[in-house]
Amino acid sequence: MSAAVPAGGLRIGGRTVDASDGGSFAVADPASEETIAEVANGTVQDALAAADAAAAAAADWAGRAPRERSEILRAAFETMTARAGEIAELIVRENGKPRADAEGETAYAAEFFRWYAEEAVRNLGSFGTAPSGANRMLVVHQPVGVCLLITPWNFPAAMATRKIGPALAAGCTVVLKPASETPLTALLVADVLAEAGVPDGVVNVVPSRRSGDVAAALLGHDAVRKLSFTGSTEIGRLLLRAAADRVVNTSMELGGNAPFLVFADADLDAAVDGAMVAKMRNIGEACTAANRFYVEAPVAEEFAERLAARMGALDVGPGLDGAAVGPLVNAAAVESVGELVDDATGRGARVLCGGAALDRAGHFYAPTVLAGVPAGARLLGEEIFGPVAPVVAFDSEDEAIAAANDTEYGLVSYVYSRDLDRALRVGERLEAGMIAVNRGLVSDPAAPFGGVKQSGLGREGGHEGLLDYTESKYFAIP
Ligand code: NAP
Repeated sequence: MSAAVPAGGLRIGGRTVDASDGGSFAVADPASEETIAEVANGTVQDALAAADAAAAAAADWAGRAPRERSEILRAAFETMTARAGEIAELIVRENGKPRADAEGETAYAAEFFRWYAEEAVRNLGSFGTAPSGANRMLVVHQPVGVCLLITPWNFPAAMATRKIGPALAAGCTVVLKPASETPLTALLVADVLAEAGVPDGVVNVVPSRRSGDVAAALLGHDAVRKLSFTGSTEIGRLLLRAAADRVVNTSMELGGNAPFLVFADADLDAAVDGAMVAKMRNIGEACTAANRFYVEAPVAEEFAERLAARMGALDVGPGLDGAAVGPLVNAAAVESVGELVDDATGRGARVLCGGAALDRAGHFYAPTVLAGVPAGARLLGEEIFGPVAPVVAFDSEDEAIAAANDTEYGLVSYVYSRDLDRALRVGERLEAGMIAVNRGLVSDPAAPFGGVKQSGLGREGGHEGLLDYTESKYFAIP
């Protein structure tokens, strides 16, 4: 076991403890399928103890000066940056992503602490006169209270810090339930926060394979006032229903089905470069991953061939060995990607590269480009979550926009065109919370990240991300 693997106990009230029933579960390396570590399998009783600890720490944390919370978050940024190498290595080991992606995620994750260190002292309200002149109006933003944070496995560090950073800046305390595939990174992030001076009980972490029971118990806990969830739309819907019972404030970062539009006037070199980033960052296991490539007919074949040449040349192997493409997170992920590709080829799509899982240990799927994908293919309607790029030709702007919007999701859309007027015109009609123009990457801690339609509610990052952890309180004053 590497020195970078944190202790596998729950983090409750500043202590590292076993599960109350002594249970644990194994965390596996997707590249080798070997066990990395055993992690405590939190029980409902443990989850409630974590919420009690967060509730006990809440008044003190909310009462600290914003500058003090800011300095602690800044220290967390410094500590995380100093320990970036070991964090990135742990992410590769439990998630499988290539080392460069893990290093990128670690830097991105740390930035949330820096950004929210800066935001903690800018939680400004407002003061004004009522339109009638009858009274003055003072509005302040207070911490929402104890927050339940539930995170996915695909960005095990960044999805945790994107929630913990603004929550702590706003004066909230938290219980984090990380994904069972990747709990070790979350535990290491908690250790980094403790090292940076976050007081006991402010950040509690409860890994658990009993996600449904643990979430239900926490949503029923009197002190829990906020749920921030990142994961699939399917589980998001369940949690929204569960949160309704106590009218718990919710933020939802859910699934995506991002269209990537390339117009004939685009710089094709830039479009292919951007496609590689939008598709292959995190091996396609990202909510922002380009899921459907709509390319104007005159350049569709050339775009698909150039993308296939780049995708087909990528080396696939364990991330720690320096491969450009690592394994998918587990065997089920490989099976699901394979089914989507087989469905598309069964309907007539042509395989330009890849098209199959690799015959070796670990959960590897070959980078794949499909051309001539017919409408109705499942992978145009579902999240692929793997290294597969389906290319579809279009003839007009209206046709491209209609196809792009023909989904229940609305997280991000990519537009490539040299004509900025067109890019803005198209972007305004695309149903998405984020539009990338001539870029393959949108994520930035300083920007409001989030989706419309069934991709979510609320925003993470930017100033909006801080407000999501506050309640406005209005004073009417003579
Ligand atoms: P998931 O299956 O929905 O799981 C997400 C989290 O929810 C995990 O911690 C999981 O715990 C937990 N969970 C599962 N069932 C639950 C239940 N019944 N009640 C409460 N919690 C439950 O999603 P995933 O497979 O980890 O992540 C991939 C999905 O996340 C994709 O759809 C992706 O698009 C989305 N995502 C969205 C964003 C965004 O910002 N919009 C960012 C990243 C990922 P266990 O692991 O223990 O089951």
